Amino acid sequence: MTSRAAHSILVLFVISLGLHSCTKDEGEEKPPNIVFIFADDLGYGDIGSFGATDIKTPNIDKIANEGIKFTSFYSASPICSPSRAGLLTGRLPIRMGIHDVFFPESFTGMPTEEVTIAEILKSKNYKTGIVGKWHLGHQYEFLPLQQGFDSYFGIPYSNDMASVVYMRDNDVEEFKVDQHFITKRYTEEALKFIDKNKDKPFFLYLAHNMPHVPIYASESFVGTSERGLYGDVVQELDWSVGKVLTKLNELDLLENTLVIFSSDNGPWLAMKELGGSAGILREGKQFTFEGGMRVPTVAMWKGKIPKGIVDNDMASQMDWFPTFANLVGYEIPDSIVLDGRNISQVLLNTGKRENSTYLFFDGENNLQAFRSGEWKVKKPYKGNSETPWKKGVAPHDTLLIDLSTDPGEENNLYLDDAQTTKELFHQMEDQYKKLGNLPPPLVIKTPADNSHIDYLRKKEKEDK
Ligand code: MG
Repeated sequence: MTSRAAHSILVLFVISLGLHSCTKDEGEEKPPNIVFIFADDLGYGDIGSFGATDIKTPNIDKIANEGIKFTSFYSASPICSPSRAGLLTGRLPIRMGIHDVFFPESFTGMPTEEVTIAEILKSKNYKTGIVGKWHLGHQYEFLPLQQGFDSYFGIPYSNDMASVVYMRDNDVEEFKVDQHFITKRYTEEALKFIDKNKDKPFFLYLAHNMPHVPIYASESFVGTSERGLYGDVVQELDWSVGKVLTKLNELDLLENTLVIFSSDNGPWLAMKELGGSAGILREGKQFTFEGGMRVPTVAMWKGKIPKGIVDNDMASQMDWFPTFANLVGYEIPDSIVLDGRNISQVLLNTGKRENSTYLFFDGENNLQAFRSGEWKVKKPYKGNSETPWKKGVAPHDTLLIDLSTDPGEENNLYLDDAQTTKELFHQMEDQYKKLGNLPPPLVIKTPADNSHIDYLRKKEKEDK
C-alpha cells in the first residue's frame, strides 16, 4: 500500500469514528451552512467596526451589527501558512512542523494525516468548497481536494510568489492571473458555489488573496477610499462580502447560515502605505505583539446569534474546528489533539469560552509570549533590523502587560510586578511542556526542487 493510500484510510477511519458517535438529533433541524471569509494580512485597524475612519466597510460592519464582534480574537500564527493550518485543523502549527510559509519551490505541505474542518463537514454530508488562497502545499497530495474539499478555485500560494496561477480542483486552469480582477473573480466563483449547493448543507471557505501585497483593486474601486490603494482594495473586499450576503438573502439562506469574516494575521507593516494598519495595537504581521496576532473577526447567523454582541474575551482561529464540530453534531475522537476550544456558547450568547490562556508562537514557531486572562507576558527580544520584508523592531526587555487597560502594549509592568511575571512564565513553560513530543520542522523550501517553477515558466513561454 502506498503511504498516500495509508494516510487516506487513516483519515477516513478517524472521520468515521465521528460519524458513528453523532450526538445531535439529526433530521430535526437542518444543519447550518458555514461561509468563512478570510482576508489576507488585513489589520485590526482596517475596518469600520474596529475603528477605521478612512476605509468604509458597511457590509463587514453589518455582520458585526447583526451578530457578534470579537475584539480579542487570535490567529494561530502571525504569518500565512501556519495561520491557515491552525484554522483548518484546530491545532497549533508547531504540532504539524509548519515553521514557515510554503513557497512554489516547496515539496512539502500540511501533513495529509491532519483532519481538516472540510473533512469533518464532508463526513456530515456537507458540500465543501474553497475559493482563493490555499497556501498549505501545492503538490498533488497537499491540495484542497485531498484535504476534504469537493472543489477548488484559486491561487495555491501567496499572490507575491513566482508564477502565480489559477487552479481549478487539481489542475492549473490559467497560467496568467490579472490580479486587478482577483477579488471580483473569487466573488463570482463563491456565488456560483452557493447557487449550485443551495439545497444541501455547504461549507464555503472564501480565502481572498487581498489585501496581501502586491495589492490590486478593479477599476471601479480605485480612488474610492481615503486611504489610497490599500483602502480601495479593502473596500472591494467589503463589496464582495456584500455580494455574498445578498446572495444568501436572495436564496432565503441567511437564517440557516453562519457567516464569519476574519483575517489570517496582522498587517504587513514593512510594506508601508501598501500594507494595512493595526489600529490601536502594537506592531503587525511576523510579530507576536497584539498587532500581529489579533485579527478583526465578526460573525452572524440570523435568528441564532443575538444582534450586536461584543465579545472581549480571548478566542482563536483554532476554535472554529471544535465549534463547527459541535454545531453539526460531529463528536471529535480522542485521537485528535486540539488546541482550540468550542465557542458555540459564545456565539449563541449562552456562556463563556472555557479557557483564557494562549501560547504565542512567532512565524518560525519560537514560543515568545503567553496570555492568561488579561495578563500577557512576552520574552525579551533582541530586536531586528528593517528589511524589505520585515519591519525593524527595537529590542525590548521582558514584558508584562495588562491587556484590559493596555491593548496597545505600551506600559511594561514587569519591574512593578516581577512575581506575576514569574508565575505567568511558569504557566507558559508548563503548557508548552504539555504539548509533548513535537515533530521536526518540515523542510519548507529547497532549491533542489524547482520542477514546479520550471514547468510553469516553460508553459508561460509556450503561451506567448
Ligand atoms: Mg497573511
